[in-house]
Amino acid sequence: MARIPLPAFHTPPHPEVLSVRLAPLLLHWFDANKRPFPWRKDRDPYRIWVSEVMLQQTVAATVIPFFERFLERFPNVESLALAQVDEVLHHWQGLGYYRRARLLHQAAQKLVSLGHKTLPDDSGLVRELPGLGRYSTNAILSQAYGRQLPILEANTFRLLARLFGLLDDPRSKSSEVWLWEAADALVPGDRPGDFNQALMELGSQICLKDSPTCLVCPAQGSCVANLCGLQSKIPNSPPKAPATAVSEVAVSIVDEQNRWLVVRRPPEGRWGLMWEFPRVEINPGEAIMGAIQRAALGLAGLSLVNLKKATRIQYAVTRFKVNLQLWTAGMAFPQEKVVLSFHSESAWVNPGEFALLAAPTPQRRLMGWIREKYSPDRPG
Ligand code: SF4
Repeated sequence: MARIPLPAFHTPPHPEVLSVRLAPLLLHWFDANKRPFPWRKDRDPYRIWVSEVMLQQTVAATVIPFFERFLERFPNVESLALAQVDEVLHHWQGLGYYRRARLLHQAAQKLVSLGHKTLPDDSGLVRELPGLGRYSTNAILSQAYGRQLPILEANTFRLLARLFGLLDDPRSKSSEVWLWEAADALVPGDRPGDFNQALMELGSQICLKDSPTCLVCPAQGSCVANLCGLQSKIPNSPPKAPATAVSEVAVSIVDEQNRWLVVRRPPEGRWGLMWEFPRVEINPGEAIMGAIQRAALGLAGLSLVNLKKATRIQYAVTRFKVNLQLWTAGMAFPQEKVVLSFHSESAWVNPGEFALLAAPTPQRRLMGWIREKYSPDRPG
């Protein structure tokens, strides 16, 4: 593993040796600086589990209101396991990455079927649950049960790479193996959960990607990147690929009773089991009418009349930057039945009922536009 050639006065720290020095410093810093998150109020394994799942891909400040609402409705494993997946998705609405919610629900059902009332102190079993990998399992069990288990996630990748002067791409397989070993050697027997949280907190608040504030960092005296002035060179990650532009069209089809067609996505894949207006990607060079036809006739088996361009929104999802047009239309043959080719279910709903559906954020924006424009009680 390539590491920085250090000045003669400094020997690269071995993780285990560094742990002795670092653990008290980090724990002291964490006690004084930790943010008062609701999932830090106690060591309830279920609450910590929900928070860890929500915190995958989402920053803490965004998670807080979702966490509180979710825990109010699903206060324990059993209540989550017994709920319908629709309701779980509805409470996840706006947080994104909905697969997390579906897997959390499945994991709760599996636990209940095995007779557990909460997440048990059993790393083998926890690691086998849907949606829980090595990082999540270790983060939860170290916090909830004081297990001496290491963690490695986006912030700690960066922090540890700088701490040990790792010159290689920290995401390469060999670096990842080395960093897991380093994290394992670092985590102390005393308060391992707090130590892991301190690493994450330090990575997210102090050891920032572009401007680490080393002057206030409790690890500054042991950090190779700081001692060598190489914070801007580590981590040595390859540049991110630019976002790919995508054009989509969705069509809102209305019947004579002001009910709008919504379709439900299949369980697997992005936005699984969530509701949307029929929507397709516009192929390069494809005429908009052709794409609308694919959305209506291809996905729902309906022929359209009175096509009108309604609105346009932009949204970002994973590495895509999407430009989405919404068109409204009536049905050419009012008695025509919906025949789905991709979606799992369809429904005709009034604008006032859109809020009852679990729908991804871009679709909720489109539904909001339709509701605003076509609600019968809309002012004048
Ligand atoms: S001293 Fe600076 S680079 Fe090193 S861990 Fe702290 S904030 Fe990061």
